[in-house]
Amino acid sequence: MTTSQRALITGASSGIGRATALALADVGYDILLVARDRTKLGSVAAEVETRGRNATLLSLDLSQVSTLQETLKAWIGDDGLDVLVNNAGIGYTGRLSDMPLADWQQVMDINLGSVFECTRAVLPTMRKAGSGTIVNIASVAAYNAFPDWGAYGVSKAALVSLSKAFAAEERQHGIRVSVVSPGAVNTPIWDTETVDADFDKSKMMTAEMVAQAIANVILMPQAAVVEEITLLPNAGTF
Ligand code: NAP
Repeated sequence: MTTSQRALITGASSGIGRATALALADVGYDILLVARDRTKLGSVAAEVETRGRNATLLSLDLSQVSTLQETLKAWIGDDGLDVLVNNAGIGYTGRLSDMPLADWQQVMDINLGSVFECTRAVLPTMRKAGSGTIVNIASVAAYNAFPDWGAYGVSKAALVSLSKAFAAEERQHGIRVSVVSPGAVNTPIWDTETVDADFDKSKMMTAEMVAQAIANVILMPQAAVVEEITLLPNAGTF
């Protein structure tokens, strides 16, 4: 038996994942944090604990999809989880015509394959409990073709489709699956090695705004599900 609500957040070391960890801690969740950077995870865990909630962290490379499911199942244990936020992802810019196949595969592994396996890791215990909420973070790039963002857009469009398929299959078990598709958010993703972008960041949304939307989706009464949210900067789409 779980003694309090537990939420696992992937990509919790930074940006939207970090903000979501803090927003859910604020409403009483204990948080399981997953990403690669142990030091950053440790800082977020400390912030969760100052809010009076428990934090547990796992340093894990989600691109290792073939071992992911078993690793997570072992870590989560028989108590299971109430909430999974599949947030980890990478940005990637590059022409489809020139992109190395290995880069394409990497984007698909992290942005799509890891969500497939993380979700399948939590389903058995959620089914046993007869409830659970899974929130997948897609993007407006799932619906719009931006030059140089082709691989990223395909991964997010497929993620929307994967979310709908899981939702259709799992609702009979009391499990809700939602998609949150943000426009531009001011996070470190715009400064990573694989992204070439130069935007006026002041017009972007903050990670806290997206975290608030994610928390709202989770906090809906269990008998209702928010299937999908598109969240845009009021200043317009990028
Ligand atoms: P971010 O600050 O760069 O955060 C990305 C997170 O994913 C980090 O915690 C990173 O942690 C983790 N991650 C990346 N690769 C990983 C790997 N191989 N294994 C484990 N963890 C990995 O970016 P963000 O903007 O918050 O992005 C969060 C999600 O929002 C992504 O799915 C992104 O596509 C989506 N999104 C972002 C925007 C935007 O404008 N920012 C818009 C729409 C959608 P480590 O580096 O520690 O591993």
